[in-house]
Amino acid sequence: MATRTSAFRAAALVLLAYACVQVLQAQTKITLPKNKYTPEQDVQLGREAADEARKQYPIINDDRIDTYLTALGDRLVAAAPSEFKQSVYEYSFTPVNLKEINAFALPGGPMFVHRGMFDAAAEEGEVAGVMAHELSHVLLRHGTANATKAQNPWLQLGQLAGAIGGAVVGGGLGSAISQGSQFGLSTLLLSYSRDFEKEADLLGAQIMARAGYDPRALAHMFETIAKEAKANGSGAPQWMSSHPDPGNRTVYITKEAEHLEIAVPADTSQFEPIKRVFASLPPAKTMSELSRTGVSSSDASRGDAAQAVGTPGQPVSRPSTKYKAINGGKIFQASVPSDWTSVSSDSTIKVVPMNGYGPLRGEMVFTHGVEFGVATASSRNLVEATQGWLNAVAQSNPDLRQAGNMQSLRMSNRSALAVSLVNPSPLGGQERIGAYTTFLADGTLFYYLTVVPEREQQLFQDSFTRIVNSIKLTDR
Ligand SMILES: [Zn+2]
Repeated sequence: MATRTSAFRAAALVLLAYACVQVLQAQTKITLPKNKYTPEQDVQLGREAADEARKQYPIINDDRIDTYLTALGDRLVAAAPSEFKQSVYEYSFTPVNLKEINAFALPGGPMFVHRGMFDAAAEEGEVAGVMAHELSHVLLRHGTANATKAQNPWLQLGQLAGAIGGAVVGGGLGSAISQGSQFGLSTLLLSYSRDFEKEADLLGAQIMARAGYDPRALAHMFETIAKEAKANGSGAPQWMSSHPDPGNRTVYITKEAEHLEIAVPADTSQFEPIKRVFASLPPAKTMSELSRTGVSSSDASRGDAAQAVGTPGQPVSRPSTKYKAINGGKIFQASVPSDWTSVSSDSTIKVVPMNGYGPLRGEMVFTHGVEFGVATASSRNLVEATQGWLNAVAQSNPDLRQAGNMQSLRMSNRSALAVSLVNPSPLGGQERIGAYTTFLADGTLFYYLTVVPEREQQLFQDSFTRIVNSIKLTDR
């Protein structure tokens, strides 16, 4: 399957007041997005994730850099609008010895800044700009606002908090922060919509101005990042994958800057000396070097292609008759062959044998194994909801065909449906797909899906059946 911001004096006062009003009116008003979590929960999430990040990233331990970065961060926090500053936030600014131009901030305040950012920046304002942008994501609570929007039952709150250990950073380093991890938590907390990006840019620009930097430096840094992306040829750098370009960035940041009064210019005399301190450190690693060697973790790298389990097209062994338990958050438990590997994304967990999932001719293919997932139900009627979901699956698999009628059955003591499908296998010939669906307590569709090439169906059928019989839904 394919997968996917006096009179004279009176007149002067009036003029002054008018000017203030003008500034207030012209500056873009930024508001907090909807969020069902509390600021305390942001802090807890961020704290756990930061602990994990500190274990997995090559943190720079240098007093001069720490002092500099913390002073810069504190200056930005001091310049941030008070209505967004929660007293519980725990701001920190941690330098990381990584080459890519990147920075990320976790809910509630912990921020990590790659050394590559300093190497690429022509002036302090550029680094301050990206940090102000990241700080804006923290202040606007975009991570948990994402989780609020997601409506994903994996992410019921207990799950959100409990899943952090090893999950935000993904347990494996390559997946670190920007890549998917268990239930896509990191993706959710650290990938932003274009709307959120623009808000972070605009609030970031306002903070910069109040901190004594020209906001246009932020636009310039974005241009530098975009240039690096092109020069690499390997697609967008990490920063761009989690901070998508809303378009016209330079234009709207420049426009916002025209309405902002830049405070007393910040003292940037330490910027060049700090760049020299960075230059005296051991060489920075790239993310891919880090994922190969790790820091404290030896877990294999992930990332999109690296999330592969073996190489599709290579032989796949018949499933082990030994089983192991897996847990899908608060949603389900099941038993799967002990030699299969779990691969998680936002709303799915695939469990696959070696060579059952990975890139093939430029596309991620899923040739052998099972997938558990949740999907928004298009109807309260199970047949209709199942059909709606199958139609969505068929969008990325246009030749998917139903083979036989839907069958009613029980799954974990609930009414469920089963349907057989055929689809061209990416390996040639046909593949057999089994799909099982039922409703979760909140009306979301839960599914269990099996995939195997037709010619190997006999070898896998017992395992598929044994897995479906082991499924225990735990959402209520
Ligand atoms: Zn952003």
